Parts: sequence; C-alpha cells; structure tokens
Amino acid sequence: MSTETKDGDFELKIDTSKMSTEKAQAMHMAESNRELKWENPSFAGGLFMGRFLPDLIVPYPEQNPEDKAVGDKLLAELGPFLKANLDPDEVDRTRELPKKVLDGFTKMKLWAMKIPKEYNGLGLSQVNYNRIVSLVASYCGSTAVWLSAHQSIGVPQPLKMFGTDAQKKKWLPRFAEGAISAFALTEPDVGSDPAKMTTSATPSPDGSHYILNGLKLWCTNGPVADIMVVMAKTPPLLKKGREIPQITAFVLEKEMPGIELVHRCDFMGIRAIQNGLIRFNNVKVPAENIILGPGKGLKLALSTLNTGRLTLPAAAVGMGKQCLNIVRNWGNERVQWGLPIGKHEAISSKLAFLTSTQFAMEAVTWLTSAMADKGGRDIRIEAAMAKLFCSEAAWRMIDETMQIRGGRGYETAESLKGRGEKPVPVERMMRDCRINRIIEGTSEIMHLFLAREALDPHMEVAAELMLKHLPLGRRLKAGIKMANFYSKWYPQQWINSSLFHVYSDFGPKLARHMNYVDRTSHQLARNIFHSMGMYQNTLERRQMILGRYVDVGTELFAMAATCARAKLLTDKEPGNPHPAHLANFFCKEAIRRIESLFAAQNDNDDSQANKIAKGLLGGDYRWMENDILKCYEN
Ligand SMILES: Cc1cc2nc3c(=O)[nH]c(=O)nc-3n(C[C@H](O)[C@H](O)[C@H](O)COP(=O)(O)OP(=O)(O)OC[C@H]3O[C@@H](n4cnc5c(N)ncnc54)[C@H](O)[C@@H]3O)c2cc1C
Repeated sequence: MSTETKDGDFELKIDTSKMSTEKAQAMHMAESNRELKWENPSFAGGLFMGRFLPDLIVPYPEQNPEDKAVGDKLLAELGPFLKANLDPDEVDRTRELPKKVLDGFTKMKLWAMKIPKEYNGLGLSQVNYNRIVSLVASYCGSTAVWLSAHQSIGVPQPLKMFGTDAQKKKWLPRFAEGAISAFALTEPDVGSDPAKMTTSATPSPDGSHYILNGLKLWCTNGPVADIMVVMAKTPPLLKKGREIPQITAFVLEKEMPGIELVHRCDFMGIRAIQNGLIRFNNVKVPAENIILGPGKGLKLALSTLNTGRLTLPAAAVGMGKQCLNIVRNWGNERVQWGLPIGKHEAISSKLAFLTSTQFAMEAVTWLTSAMADKGGRDIRIEAAMAKLFCSEAAWRMIDETMQIRGGRGYETAESLKGRGEKPVPVERMMRDCRINRIIEGTSEIMHLFLAREALDPHMEVAAELMLKHLPLGRRLKAGIKMANFYSKWYPQQWINSSLFHVYSDFGPKLARHMNYVDRTSHQLARNIFHSMGMYQNTLERRQMILGRYVDVGTELFAMAATCARAKLLTDKEPGNPHPAHLANFFCKEAIRRIESLFAAQNDNDDSQANKIAKGLLGGDYRWMENDILKCYEN
C-alpha cells in the first residue's frame, strides 16, 4: 500500500532501493497517482483475496425500461442515419469523415452523450453510451474512435468528474453544439511511462497563467479539436529536500496562439481518425484552466480511465456481433468438399469459440457498465479486466473470422465489390481491431495495473515489513499487524467455502462453474500469498508470474459474469437453453486455461526465456538476421 501521511506527503511503500533512478521515479509517480482508497466493494478484487462475493453481480443487472427506451430511440435514429450517410470503406480509403456525418452527430447531440442534461447534454447512462459506441463500432471503427476519444478520455469526462462549477458552465454546453475534444498525454518518449514527460507549463510570476511548451504524439481528435486536455509538467514540489515531480491537466482551446499541428499520423487501421503530432509553442493558458488542481493531472487521467476504459470493450462487442453475422452467413453459404464449411468440424469449433466468446464479452461489458451506472462499487479492476479481456478476445475473434472467410477474408471490400461479390469488410475490421490491444493501456500495462491493484490488500498488511529502510520499531509493529491478519486469513483459504454455497438456482451445469469460481478464488489467493513469501520484494519484477495470476482472476471474473448473465436470460425465458449452453461452453474452456495457467506457475520456462531475450538484446543472435534487406539498420 502507498499512503498519504497527515501532512499530505506521499509515502511509497515499495522498496525502490535496487531500482534504477529512472524506474524508481516511474514507480513513485505511478504509486502516488493511483487511487489509494477502496471506498466501495470490488467483486473482481475479492477474487484475488479468496473472497467470492456473488451478491455483487447476481442478479445480473438489467437495464431499467425507461433507460433502455432512451437508448433504443437513439439507436433507432442513428442506425439508419449511418447507413444513409456513411460508407465505412470510403471513409477508410479517403481518411475523412464526411461533414454531413459530423453535422448529423451534432444534431443528435452525440458529442454530448455523457454530458448532464443541465448542461444541455443527453445525460446518457454508461450503458446507453456504450450501446451507441457498440453500434457505431460494428459499422465503422474510425467513426467509433472519433466519438470515444472525445467522450471517454477527452474533455467531457474529466470535466464532468473533476471540473469546478465555473469550468463546467463554461465548457460542457459547447459539446451539445458540436465542439470536439481530445486528450494529450503521450509524447515521443512518453508511452506507458509518464514520468518521462517533457511538455512543461511554467507559471507566470503572478500565478495568473502558465506558458506551455512541448510536443504531444498520437493525439486522437487533436487536429480537429476545439478543446483539449493537455498533461504537462509543472514545477516540482520541494518536500523534505526532495523534488516531487508534478503533472498537471490543462484545458486548451484551439484559438490559443501557439498550438501547431506538426503532422497528421496515419495508421494500419482506423484510418479516418484525426490523430496528430502537436507542438505547443509558448501557449498562454489561464490558471483557471487547470482541472483538479496543480500536480493532480495523472490522478485525473487514471481516474478518468477507470470508467473511460469501458468504451473499448463496448466497441469490441459491436465488432464481435458483426463477426457472428459474417461467419453465420458464410458458414452456411460456402460449400466445399460437399458440405457447408460451417459443418466441417475444424470450422464448427471456431464457430463455437466465436459464439461463446461473444457471449462472455457481452456479459463482462454490460455487467461492468451497469456497475458504473449503479455506483457503490469500485470498478477499477473490473473495467481494466473488461478492457484486457475484450481487446484480446476480439482480436482472436477477428482472426478466426478471417480464417473462416478464407481468401475473401484477406481481400478488401472494394476488391470483392469490384468483382461482383458482397463487400464483407473483414480485412478492414481486422486492421481496425488491432489497436485495441495498444491504446488506453497496452495489454502488458493492463497486467501490471491489475497485478498492482490485486495485490493492494496484501501490500496494505505486508509491505512495511519488507521495507528495510524503515525504523525497526515500525517494522516490528507491521510484523504484528501482518501476523494478526494472516493467522486468520490464511486458514480460511483452505476451507472450501463453496461446500456451503450450492448455487443450485443456476441449474446443475452453471452451479458447478459458480462453485469452481468460489473454490478457485481461494486457490488464487493462497498461491499469490505463497509467491509473495517466495519472491518478496522481487515479485514486482516477476511479470510472468503476476501476469498469470491476473489472467486467472480475469478468467474467473468472465466465468462469473457469464454464468450470472445466462441465469438472468434463462430466468426470463425458461424454455431457452442457449444462454446456459454458451455459458457452460465458455466456462469449460476457461477452466482449461486456468488450470494450465496454474500449472505454468510451477512448470515454466520464464528464466530461460529471460536468458534468450537478454542474449537477443545483447546481439548474441545477430547471426540469425543474415540474408535480409534490413529495415532497421544500426
Ligand atoms: C492510434 C493511436 C491513438 C492514440 N490516441 C492517443 C490519445 O488520444 N492520447 C494520448 O495521449 N495517447 C494516444 N495514443 C498513445 C497510446 O496510448 C500509446 O501508444 C500507448 O500508451 C503505448 O505507448 P507506446 O506506444 O509509446 O509504447 P511503449 O510504452 O513504448 O511500449 C512498447 C511496448 O513495451 C511494453 N511495455 C512498456 N512498458 C512496460 C513495462 N513496464 N513492462 C512490460 N511491458 C512494457 C508495452 O506494453 C508495449 O508492448 C494513441 C496511440 C495510437 C497508436
């Protein structure tokens, strides 16, 4: 655990003594900006502590009829509008979104979906907002990114969460009139590591404004943004002779002199997004444009992303539905070797994977979105799991969809159309889908984030004991606290609490899976505890070990969400066997993955892999790079 002491000073509870200065700085920055408190319960967090809390997800939340009607109405308007006005393949080719589409979105107030009604927005719930993004993403990935970069990470969300009344009054109504926003954190040297930020904001002597200088990379919507949030370094705080770096969030408006678009970036997919390298040359920004206060920028970014991340799973759900539609049609239509290809076992197993994975992606996404609406739950772990699970699953889904479509999957929609076939855009969908494993936290960073959050309750009781620089008295006290905690907690992890819970209202098959999740959460908690004992301070570096625990937790969460959703659907329509079939199939596959993840914790090649990687980086395998025309000369 990292704590804020009484004078607001931050105390790092991770041993950084053996880390490089750069890594220690990055660690300090990440730790001091994460949400420290757990004010509400976390279902997924409980799984890592051997606390299975099904009451937090069962009954699976259903959208209330009034809220659903609002979403239905908007979807009914938006779908035909998109069909009539937007050709996703043309958009992909020309890299431009037609003005009539942008204007239509303004008319429908789609730039103000999450803005409260008092500021003239639509005031949509998270579920309805995600339904809209899902529909758009099912049709055109680029267009979905325009909307989501604006609303999930752009100005509306942080302003809604942390803006002052004056800031909200000033900027929020503009989104209903079509203002577009962006979020600028990344720099050429700042990818996953914001501690390396160089964009600076220097306060004027009277403190009335700041002068901003620097370069921001890959800023989505940046080239067209009316308003953007920019993260910049402000002067460090001096505490006890130590400099504490400060990152601050500023709202910039496009009219401010000194904002220069250096380059519009082009990508493999989502080719019609407006994404740029933007330079800030002495941009004068009033101090009142700071959101949340000086030095709170990263905290703002991380908190915004805790719900902002839910848009991406929703987009994956939209694309996944499109995949189902494609493979159902093609699996029936295409006949080879005397059978529709969907009836050859090698393809039908892919169809089962696609259908059950889609069911699980939806279960995870709508559960977490509903939790965000309901409040009273800490969803930072669930949202990150939803992002990780859905972006990885969607990539596998589009890959299998391409395989099922064969050569036609690899052919562009335009070429298919040119020779008289249906322009099914699997090739574009695949290009559009790949970015999801990189943006809003790469899959690797999601693993680290989840591991850190999952370990937090353990660190709260055990961290101080491991900090060798602390006074002996404090460490002794920590030791007593730890002994007290683990002497009660650890034996409980050996009691199979699932024996007391039968989950029979899930039906026999799903009850077994709920039981498994219950039981396995104890196994997960025990194993994490054992690894903490074994690796102690070095556990933080064992990314593969931590990553497998995170994957087990994520699979357990997906299993529980899937069973809960299947139960809801079956309760509503008792004669319908399909939801339970899909949940059962998904869970059986998930259990196999979980068992192999556990097995790999003791039987793996991690250290050998590390050696090979070190050798590769050190040039030991340069001889394998012979006889090619190198694209990366050095
Ligand atoms: C199309 C697109 C749109 C984007 N939109 C925006 C935007 O609107 N605003 C914005 O601010 N940024 C945006 N980004 C930036 C995006 O968020 C970053 O690309 C992402 O954070 C990763 O940074 P990076 O690419 O520099 O990778 P790096 O951080 O350099 O990482 C490279 C690789 O190393 C891995 N890695 C890094 N650190 C670790 C570690 N500690 N442990 C293990 N593995 C690690 C990463 O997972 C990755 O696989 C966008 C990027 C793209 C391509």
